[in-house]
Amino acid sequence: MSTNYLHDHLGPGLLEEVAPGVFSYVQPDGTWFINNTGFIVGKSGVVSIDTTSTELRNRAYIDAIASVTPNPVTLLVNTHHHADHTHGNYLFPDAAIISHTSCRDVMMATGIPDYRSAFPSVEWGNLQFRAPDLTFEGSTKIHLDEVEIELFDLGFVAHTEGDILAWLPDQGVLFTGDLIFHGGTPFALFGSVEGTLAALNVIETKGAEVIVPGHGPAFSGSEIQEVLTSQRVYLEFVQETAAQGVRSGRTPIEQALATDLGEFEHLTDSERLAGNLHVAYRENSEATYDWVGFETAIADMIILNGGQLPHCVA
Ligand SMILES: [Zn+2]
Repeated sequence: MSTNYLHDHLGPGLLEEVAPGVFSYVQPDGTWFINNTGFIVGKSGVVSIDTTSTELRNRAYIDAIASVTPNPVTLLVNTHHHADHTHGNYLFPDAAIISHTSCRDVMMATGIPDYRSAFPSVEWGNLQFRAPDLTFEGSTKIHLDEVEIELFDLGFVAHTEGDILAWLPDQGVLFTGDLIFHGGTPFALFGSVEGTLAALNVIETKGAEVIVPGHGPAFSGSEIQEVLTSQRVYLEFVQETAAQGVRSGRTPIEQALATDLGEFEHLTDSERLAGNLHVAYRENSEATYDWVGFETAIADMIILNGGQLPHCVA
């Protein structure tokens, strides 16, 4: 049974208890800046996994937590530095915030990123910067009364250089952050295509019963293999497309424009192929390719999107 949090035109956040005391908060449609969060309710406190993008969306998320418990969020986990997962940090004043060391480093260097030109229609609200208070590398455990929450990194760059996952072994629930985009196009521009592929193996070995991805619906049981396979197949397609582009002497955007997305056409935010190709070129041992920087890679995504800015309903 899930509850809708409707906020004017912004669309619903879906709250669902995926295991006793463990909630997913899934925001349709999972596209740019429409991410998922989740939380675990203890006897006196709550642990939240991530926040969301705009002030209004964060306040709706806080209302969703308050609808199931009066307990305050005392610990907040940032799965990675991206703005959709961390913009709401400042709205949890009673919480200590924990992240990977590299996640905090990037946040400290960036502050609140300025997305006004790429995403001019978004009302971000009165955002204030708040960085994590605690950092780690490797793994650590949160003990929320009887509930054990294991936080662990991958030991390599994947979606970003500081990804962490939250694993509840007794409940079989895994929060993966943006290592999985369920129904959307995986996005490795800020990390590694190879690493994102390797992360799927790590996720598989956990043997989770329920997976809450960073974007798109939570999934469980036999769907887990299906979703992991679909993410793998896409990332391998990116690598193969890059290899073809390298062999034919095309730039990443030339190769992206020449590529038929075929079975991947139904994935949302398909323009990410252009950004992903820049990374796959960089990782291709046959390529003589100089990294162009994020701005050029993002400009290429807009070209691939027919000159339109990315679809964003945050
Ligand atoms: Zn992300």
